[in-house]
Amino acid sequence: METKDIKSFDNYELKRHTTFKIGGCAKKVWFPKTEEELVYLLEVLDRPIVLGGCSNVLISSAGVDDDVILTTELKDFKIEGSVITANCGVKAPFLSQEVQKYGLSGFEFMIGFPGTVGGIVHMNASAHSQAVSDTCISARVFDMDTKSVLELDKETLDFKYRSSVLDRKKYILLSAKFELIPDDKEKILDLMKRNTEFRKNKQPNLTLPNAGSTFKNPPNDSAGRLLELAGAKTISYGGAKVWSGHANFIINNGNAVSKDISHIMNKMYNMVKEKYTIELEPEVKFIGIKDREEEELWNTMLKK
Ligand SMILES: Cc1cc2nc3c(=O)[nH]c(=O)nc-3n(C[C@H](O)[C@H](O)[C@H](O)COP(=O)(O)OP(=O)(O)OC[C@H]3O[C@@H](n4cnc5c(N)ncnc54)[C@H](O)[C@@H]3O)c2cc1C
Repeated sequence: METKDIKSFDNYELKRHTTFKIGGCAKKVWFPKTEEELVYLLEVLDRPIVLGGCSNVLISSAGVDDDVILTTELKDFKIEGSVITANCGVKAPFLSQEVQKYGLSGFEFMIGFPGTVGGIVHMNASAHSQAVSDTCISARVFDMDTKSVLELDKETLDFKYRSSVLDRKKYILLSAKFELIPDDKEKILDLMKRNTEFRKNKQPNLTLPNAGSTFKNPPNDSAGRLLELAGAKTISYGGAKVWSGHANFIINNGNAVSKDISHIMNKMYNMVKEKYTIELEPEVKFIGIKDREEEELWNTMLKK
């Protein structure tokens, strides 16, 4: 195989893929279609950034210096009894709908957010009392340090709140295996509908570009509650603002750049710190080039 055989674009604007509708150009963006192509890219590229649904990232408006691999064309999955094996690029809401048809429960929570299997395992996504860690039993990953493919069991995946071993080591998810629970199809569908309904009232939909929760919940509390009480709903900067319906969401009004979001996040962080001496941890991940100002805004929040 050669890199020229794999779909790619030069100077490709990433904002067309991010749910924030923010993000400058990467010098090269790759779209592998098979696991073989993805593994080949991971072998030959120096330090590529691997992204899926781009629904938990703030990509710099100044762009990204590294190669970017978007996994969204890696869409194979199979269902064997109650075990699902899915490639990293399969969309979580799609998987949620597919397993319902087989009367399998455990993915009802995924109906409402635009992640991919790679992103949800990396982040240990959760909602409505369900989490990826409840059902994920193993994963096939590429280790960027040793440039080899590994099979990880559940223990090694080391799931924590909004994190897994993929977040801590240089592991790229190729595919993951999940074991679901057989249940009544109507009951599963009903739960999916209730989850969707809940989101309509409590979260902005993607016609208001956003990246989900901005900060992680601190232990035994809710970031949204603290932000609301600290007065964060009044914050706006440039082309973005905190959403009026929930203080842990930032909305791009249409023309925001990454620095607008970084300023708002920094203000949110400082408001809660001043009022409650609690230092919120960003859930949204920054990717790409930072100038000095943006670097300082993030260094404060990441306590660097
Ligand atoms: C409207 C909305 C609602 C949301 N609601 C929720 C919610 O209820 N619960 C929740 O947990 N999240 C929620 N999110 C956040 C987001 O959807 C999840 O975090 C999701 O898991 C991210 O998946 P992704 O594919 O978009 O990841 P990306 O944003 O593309 O990437 C996120 C991280 O995962 C890494 N990654 C992506 N693919 C791979 C791979 N193959 N191998 C290794 N690492 C990889 C990236 O490098 C990055 O560090 C919401 C987002 C939005 C926009």
